[in-house]
Amino acid sequence: MSLEDNIRRVTPYTPGEQPQKKVIKLNTNECPYPPSPKVVDAIKNADMDALRLYPEVDCDTLNSAISSYYGIPKDRIFSGVGSDDVLSMCFLTYFAGTEPVLFPDITYSFYDVWAEVYRIPYETIPLDEDFNIVPSDYSRENGGVVIANPNAPTGVVLGPDVVEDIVSHNKNSVVIVDEAYIDFGGRSALPLIEKYDNVVVVRTMSKSRALAGMRIGYCFGSPKLIKYLNDVKYSVNSYTMNTPALMAGAAAIEDDEYFRDITGRIIKTRADFAEKLKELGFSFRESSTNFIFAKPPAGAEASYVFEELKKRDIYVRHFKKPARIADHLRITIGTDEEMEILAGALKEIMG
Ligand code: PMP
Repeated sequence: MSLEDNIRRVTPYTPGEQPQKKVIKLNTNECPYPPSPKVVDAIKNADMDALRLYPEVDCDTLNSAISSYYGIPKDRIFSGVGSDDVLSMCFLTYFAGTEPVLFPDITYSFYDVWAEVYRIPYETIPLDEDFNIVPSDYSRENGGVVIANPNAPTGVVLGPDVVEDIVSHNKNSVVIVDEAYIDFGGRSALPLIEKYDNVVVVRTMSKSRALAGMRIGYCFGSPKLIKYLNDVKYSVNSYTMNTPALMAGAAAIEDDEYFRDITGRIIKTRADFAEKLKELGFSFRESSTNFIFAKPPAGAEASYVFEELKKRDIYVRHFKKPARIADHLRITIGTDEEMEILAGALKEIMG
């Protein structure tokens, strides 16, 4: 036996770069606008003495706000430190069987990392050549299913009927629908939680509510599935979310007008930028998210364009993965001005 034999070795997820210098940052799908002024007020007016105490163990301040906003009872809601924490807890809780958990080959690249770290058997199912999920591929024996809808990094959305088809064909396993980007397009699978007790819908405040720095995620499911999730959470770390995050999250969810304004602006900028990308010869599927996954025209390698943009202090995301992914760039939608500068730089690089 060696020391190494006693150690859990994993290949970690690679997060997007967070450069310290000021750049045009379009690499991690953050929101280009600040959080709601109500969030800023909630934090400014917070009772600092409360920080002496542990936070609410049941995240009640936040879950109550989420419950009123969506009209869903609190026993169907679970919150965590970003949707990464919520998803990780879901993997640990729901995927304890022996059959493989299924998810697409091109999807959020954290899923296989969690499966590896928790030693969950899994199988990836190839998307078709146009990056579509083929629903019938998920109608087989499995230990669970994970679908990002809209999918990342492709930006492609499935209709609610297709998601329901996948859920209804998997009554003996949990289907996780990761809706990190649903506020930018597509219809949510949320109504399915009333109809099926094997579906969990996961959301985040990192994108459409401009709170990536606060780390707030949540999910919805049957009271039974939420109880199982809490049992595991309380067995790992009971005080997950900090007090300022609980207050900020509640304030963010209550400011619906601001939320609609910023998501509307991003959707509009996305449409304008898509036109520019087309003119530049990029090919891409229509995006239902706050990013576009685009392939540069022949003659311009994605990795080259990525490096050239970086030299100009414009950061986008390039995944050094198999060909279908590596020949694309994932470009977050920023402000109109940022997208203008990016379009100018792309023109220059490919000129
Ligand atoms: N799901 C998907 C599909 C994502 O792209 C991300 C962002 N990296 C997350 C979940 C996690 O987001 P967060 O932890 O910030 O909520």
